[in-house]
Amino acid sequence: MTDQPDAVSSTYATAETTAQFAENIRDVRTRIDVAAQRAGRSSADVRLLPVSKTVPEERIRLAVEAGATFLGENKVQEALRKSENLADIVELDWAVIGHLQTNKAKYVARFAAEFHALDSMRLAEALQRRLDIEDRTLEVYVQVNTSGEQSKFGLEPADAEGFVRELASFDRLNVAGFMTLAVFSSDEERVRRCFTVLRELRDRVCAEAPGGLQPHGLSMGMSGDFEAAIDEGATTVRVGQAIFGSRALPDSYYWPTGTGDLEGSA
Ligand SMILES: *Cc1c(COP(=O)(O)O)cnc(C)c1O
Repeated sequence: MTDQPDAVSSTYATAETTAQFAENIRDVRTRIDVAAQRAGRSSADVRLLPVSKTVPEERIRLAVEAGATFLGENKVQEALRKSENLADIVELDWAVIGHLQTNKAKYVARFAAEFHALDSMRLAEALQRRLDIEDRTLEVYVQVNTSGEQSKFGLEPADAEGFVRELASFDRLNVAGFMTLAVFSSDEERVRRCFTVLRELRDRVCAEAPGGLQPHGLSMGMSGDFEAAIDEGATTVRVGQAIFGSRALPDSYYWPTGTGDLEGSA
């Protein structure tokens, strides 16, 4: 089975009206309901995080009119700019879901409600320091590399437990759970295995976590694979293209290798 990085990229029509956004959101929610029911879970336990990266603000406004109140962005400066330009919308929360360079922690601290890609102690320290200055707190998800691919960011599963324990002393960070990007593959078993690894890690950590720390959340699943993620326990699914339409740029643009200059073009 070969990887098909862009297998899902061309199949989603671009939503251009509030009605189309309402329909897309309704369709995704229905898929969530069906997947939750099949897994014997309540769909109330699965949050939908619409991912609006690359989508211009005019179209984001339509999605908000259609009911979106929570948006995910992969690049922090794009997210900050949008949050400022959409600041007139009172009930809108932002999650930064992509890899973050330590020197950009200050941007996240300024506006984000959640950060889903915490993967180093240096970054945790920078966020804590910046959140102190802003007098804010942040829900964080620890990103775990569940696919073993060199190109993916995130901690090794074996390192995540100790990492979470250390986070207990950061009072500005609320450790909500774990996040992963599954392998990009048409092999559903390989994809699902990534979600299983994250769920088992979460269960282990929660069983042994020090008092007060209960990082139950599982941020996993995207347009092409969120049903399997829900089956494996996802509590937040991050869905972009199925709501907003296909992106022009290949996904490799958003998830370059860990050695590349990721945010140089942000
Ligand atoms: C873009 C992105 C998503 C959403 O992917 P879609 O294919 O648009 O559903 C989810 N998670 C992360 C980290 C992303 O960058």
